Amino acid sequence: MSDSSLRLVWVYPDLLSTYGDQGNALVVERRARQRGLDVTRIDVRSDQQVPTSGDIYLIGGGEDRPQRLAAERLRRDGGINRAVANGAIVFAVCAGYQIIGNEFINDLGRVEPGLGVLDVRSVRNEGARHVGDVLADVDERLGLPPLTGFENHQGNTVIGPSARPFARLRYGGGNGTGDGTEGAWCDTVFGTYMHGPVMARNPQIADMLLKLALDVNALPPVDERWYEALRAERIAAASQPA
Ligand code: GLN
Repeated sequence: MSDSSLRLVWVYPDLLSTYGDQGNALVVERRARQRGLDVTRIDVRSDQQVPTSGDIYLIGGGEDRPQRLAAERLRRDGGINRAVANGAIVFAVCAGYQIIGNEFINDLGRVEPGLGVLDVRSVRNEGARHVGDVLADVDERLGLPPLTGFENHQGNTVIGPSARPFARLRYGGGNGTGDGTEGAWCDTVFGTYMHGPVMARNPQIADMLLKLALDVNALPPVDERWYEALRAERIAAASQPA
């Protein structure tokens, strides 16, 4: 950590914040405070510079045009790339996931370069849009329970050799490439198609990021009743698709 206060950066709320993704910032912040940790949340709009001294960067989803604008500005800014080179943690959802990869297809149908901090490449799925509940078992190295999320995307994502699948699908489209994978990760950088917001449904993700930032193996327990009730409801919904 850069100093005594944990620095949580919420990237481009004006462009990338669909399906309640801002909830991820609220959950990380709350679970840090519940452990008595001092946390500073920094919301960075797209006309501002991305700080390079953050500990955790959260990026949300977005529609196709805002996604292109965000990618252009983040490339020009360079802050996320510098932060990752310094060991910062990134958790990106949907459009954010596509942006942190090597490239994606933009709203004009052209190949748009991403930030290249995660070895994935997104392509346009010519079939039906992936919309609905997701249930997925996470890479066992990460020690997380099955995750529940909500997806709504047209892009599909191919994982390159330096990244691994974040999870294996029980239900849902995920990366959409037919290999049953959902999201991707490498070291401290994570991408997923799961909105929800995914950390309200799966607060263990927020704890995983906090543990990485603090370099500890465990955190003090907190009251999980509300989260567990939401998880149970969404897992039941995902198990019985409409
Ligand atoms: N525009 C992207 C796609 O459709 C991401 C959508 C999103 O963030 N929900 O693939």
